[in-house]
Amino acid sequence: MTAAPRVLLLEDDPAIAGTVAFALQREGFEVYHVLLAGEARTELARGRHDLLLADVGLPDGNGIDLCRELRQSADARLRALPVLLLTARDEEIDRVLGLEMGADDHMGKPFSPRELVARVRALLRRSALAPAAPAAAGRFEVDDEGRRIRYAGTWLTLTRLEHGLLRTLLAAPARIHGREALLAAVWGDATEASDRTVDTHVKTLRAKLREVTPNEDPIVTHRGLGYGLADPTR
Ligand code: CA
Repeated sequence: MTAAPRVLLLEDDPAIAGTVAFALQREGFEVYHVLLAGEARTELARGRHDLLLADVGLPDGNGIDLCRELRQSADARLRALPVLLLTARDEEIDRVLGLEMGADDHMGKPFSPRELVARVRALLRRSALAPAAPAAAGRFEVDDEGRRIRYAGTWLTLTRLEHGLLRTLLAAPARIHGREALLAAVWGDATEASDRTVDTHVKTLRAKLREVTPNEDPIVTHRGLGYGLADPTR
């Protein structure tokens, strides 16, 4: 038998926390309860939780910000941690913002403990089934219809060529893409662009990605070969 799933419960209202903890524990979950966002950060850094259940309104911050931090974390495990947000009122704005910031699900208070347990189960099942992300690629989300790409929870503002470059890299995340191939894919055949053009646009693209994750560069330069995405396990 596998260990009981561990849920980190971040909720400053003791009555709600008590109800939720009771409902989860009765179903075999291990629950660790904290009252403040700061305590949750400390706990999350220890990395022993399988899911975060977070209230939005907290005395020292809010669950949505915490969720965004997780999605931008350098730690792949935290980026993938399932998050379910609890909001005081079923406010559309919190729901939308929460999901935009990378929450996996949302429940407005008051909620039925039974339904909450069911949703927690569903999220854990989904995350267990999720393939190990080829990490760098896993941090990107492509919306081809909207012609936009999200990186670590943030929609990027890219020029047409930057978008084309990034989209090409993401189409084959494990591959090293030669400059010639990138030129052909993004600029097309009838172009005066050169290898240097590719380098210039990769440079501006990198700068935009660094704005989102200052300490990480998801694009790797392979000397003499071209560009690729960073190795997830690095
Ligand atoms: Ca609260």
